Amino acid sequence: MNPIVIAIDGPAAAGKSTVAKLVAKKLGYTYVDTGAMYRAVTLFVLQNGLDPKDEESSCALLSEIEVQVDAEDHVFLNGNDVTTEIRSRLVAENVSYIASYKKIRLFLVELQRKMAEQASVVMDGRDIGSYVVPHAQIKIYQNASVKTRAKRRFDENISKGIECTYEEVESEVKKRDYIDSHREFAPLKKSEDAYEIDTSFMSIDEVVQAIIDIVNQKVGNKK
Ligand code: C5P
Repeated sequence: MNPIVIAIDGPAAAGKSTVAKLVAKKLGYTYVDTGAMYRAVTLFVLQNGLDPKDEESSCALLSEIEVQVDAEDHVFLNGNDVTTEIRSRLVAENVSYIASYKKIRLFLVELQRKMAEQASVVMDGRDIGSYVVPHAQIKIYQNASVKTRAKRRFDENISKGIECTYEEVESEVKKRDYIDSHREFAPLKKSEDAYEIDTSFMSIDEVVQAIIDIVNQKVGNKK
């Protein structure tokens, strides 16, 4: 039987990964965080002292990069666990430049498609339903107002001990959304056949349940 793909796309800090992890757990599917892969490549570019705004030199590093994610949602860059490092503010500020380069996208999309062929997955990102797995059985576009998203990300940063102000977080989220939705290749956009869920006034459990209800309606309990 063909694996099931649940694609969850949407702008920065819409709570996609929290929800996607819980949905995957409930259904016994594999969770794939594609944003973590772009973050890992960004970290490598920064570690090599390069400017992520420089497309040519950033893309030239691809042949030296191996990115892996495991079932526990750990991210490995050339064998090293970088799960925590990829969440830094420096990576967040630069990842959208790296994610706008076609060569880098094609490199990571190939890995993502392989993962979606091997097992039923809940995959979150920006272009999963529109480009990576356009045949996904379920497509969700998870959204929330920019203020809600920035406040949630600010609270999360503070709880993790990452120093920042609310204004800095809001401007980073806005900047990433702008670059992600205006890039030429595979931009952030809602697929016509995606269910849009605005989570501004919903709890995590309510969002998870809304997605599970859609899955039950469309594919029942197939694995
Ligand atoms: O999901 P997260 O916020 O961790 O993603 C970080 C960045 O990676 C996004 O702002 C976007 O630039 C990029 N990304 C992307 N396509 C995806 C997933 C993430 O361009 N499928």
